[in-house]
Amino acid sequence: MNCFYCKGDMVPGYTTHVAELENCIVIIKHVPCLKCAQCGEVVYTGTTLQKVEQILEKCKAAMTEVAIVEYQPAA
Ligand SMILES: [Zn+2]
Repeated sequence: MNCFYCKGDMVPGYTTHVAELENCIVIIKHVPCLKCAQCGEVVYTGTTLQKVEQILEKCKAAMTEVAIVEYQPAA
């Protein structure tokens, strides 16, 4: 797989996903991803994206202003 932007090599790694929701900011640590070796662009696979969405939904319901959570594949 190659980078959408610079056609560089995408290598598996981990990133920190930061999302701004209506009422809070969610920081998800250690999200598995593919990262471009050249420009640092990050891509998630389909299941990871779904899981991130699930985590965001939970955080939305929790009504905290800033949430820092660990990515849990099994959650
Ligand atoms: Zn790139």
